[in-house]
Amino acid sequence: MQSAPPSFRYHLDPILTGSVVNSSDECERCGQARGLIYSGPIYAVDEVEFICPWCIADGSAAREFSAEFTTVDGAPSDIPRAVLDEVLHRTPGFAGWQQERWLFHCSDATAYLGRVGYGDIADLPSVIQALAVDGWDSGSLQHLSVDGDLTGYLFRCRHCEAKLAYADAS
Ligand SMILES: [Zn+2]
Ligand SMILES: [Zn+2]
Repeated sequence: MQSAPPSFRYHLDPILTGSVVNSSDECERCGQARGLIYSGPIYAVDEVEFICPWCIADGSAAREFSAEFTTVDGAPSDIPRAVLDEVLHRTPGFAGWQQERWLFHCSDATAYLGRVGYGDIADLPSVIQALAVDGWDSGSLQHLSVDGDLTGYLFRCRHCEAKLAYADAS
């Protein structure tokens, strides 16, 4: 038995990205086993392992466990507090090799699309350019892969559709 997951405007398909997985485990917030469990990072004081995407969407998991699911360090100063709150507390995060970063554009958080390899971004000059500014030379970027030691994380602006990415390594 599995219900369709709730929708998240800053994380469009958390099943596709692997942040929500099929599982028969019960959510530690609502006590229900609805077939899907969040598998991304949970930053909370007390250990909590199983949270369902519905308890992320309605904010109840973040409230009950004082949890955050990603970080917004480095967010531009023009991002409204309510947006940061939604990204931290009501949006599934994703696991990176290093501390994850959320990306921002047009005074808003962008939507996370998932991990990418070089083939996914080779024809996106703005993304290549942004990664170069981050310090990745073109030789390294060719080794970017979805499941290798050097991975890209792709986002899309909800307003101008610009694609953004950053990369990290194991
Ligand atoms: Zn739940
Ligand atoms: Zn934009």
